[in-house]
This record gives sequence, C-alpha cells and structure tokens, in this order.
Amino acid sequence: MARAYVGLGSNLGDAEANVRAAIERLGCLGTLRATSSLYRSAPWGRRDQPAFVNAAVALDTELDPHALLAELKRAERELGREVGERWGPRLIDLDILDYEGRTLEGVELTVPHRHLAQRAFALVPLTEIAPQYRALLARLDPEARAEVVKLAPPTG
Ligand code: AMP
Repeated sequence: MARAYVGLGSNLGDAEANVRAAIERLGCLGTLRATSSLYRSAPWGRRDQPAFVNAAVALDTELDPHALLAELKRAERELGREVGERWGPRLIDLDILDYEGRTLEGVELTVPHRHLAQRAFALVPLTEIAPQYRALLARLDPEARAEVVKLAPPTG
C-alpha cells in the first residue's frame, strides 16, 4: 500500500461539480484518506481563461505509480465524456503530486510533479492535507499564494 497525493483542477463547465465528481471517482482507485477544501485559483499560464477550481486528496492505493497514472488518465477521459464533448479535454486535470515521497524521473511520469514547487494552486490544497509541504509553500511568492482562495469545505 502506498500513499499518493493527487491534485485536481477544472476550469470548464461546472468546475466545482467536476472536481467533486473526480474526487468521488478517485475513491475507486484505493482508499481516500483525506480531501482538501476546494479552492478557486487564478488561471495559470494564459490569464484569459476562467478561474480554476482546485483540490488535493490523499489516496492509499495498491497501484504502482504508472498504473495510477494510467487510471488517472482513464478517469479524466471518463469524466470528460460524462458532461459532453463540447467542454473539451481540459474539463478535469488529475496529477500525481507525490507518491510515497519517492522521486521518479521518466518520460511519462515525474514525481514529485515537476511544477509542484512553482504552483500555488497545487501546493495550497496539498499543504492542507500534507503538512510536510509547508516549507515548500512558504517559499512561494505571497502574491501567488493569495490568488488561491478557499471556496468550499471538502464535503457538501
Ligand atoms: P497535462 O495535460 O499538462 O496534465 O500533462 C499530462 C501529461 O503529463 C501526462 O500524459 C503524463 O504522462 C505527464 N506527467 C508527468 N508527470 C506527471 C505526474 N506527476 N502526474 C500526472 N501526469 C504527469
């Protein structure tokens, strides 16, 4: 059994509902041990797109990192299809932020996620359920942190 932290993000359609549906779907991949609040974050990269809803979960799973990645991709496809193709492929984004504290550098998979240290929208929810990431979060620009705002509690 391994502890994985998975980051979730959506900025198309009902982004909050998409993230909640994805969290429920992740429960099929193991045991959900913790779920962060939902956060609203300013769009990353291109600013001229809707704000994102982000969250993170702690998942205890028997899947190895590559099998977990394959299941996340499958879940992204399934959840994308559920609400209709017109929303496009970025309806839900699922990333392995951390896998058992391990370091993996492959073509297909890099763990910890290669942009984790720069992304407040990933680190803020993650730190809520994984306090070991506090030091990394503290190094981020306070302005970037302030752009990630708590939106809703984990359930409800
Ligand atoms: P993106 O659509 O930007 O989320 O990129 C998805 C691609 O990033 C996937 O096809 C993965 O092969 C690759 N990738 C590398 N590391 C990770 C990771 N830690 N979690 C999820 N995807 C990853």
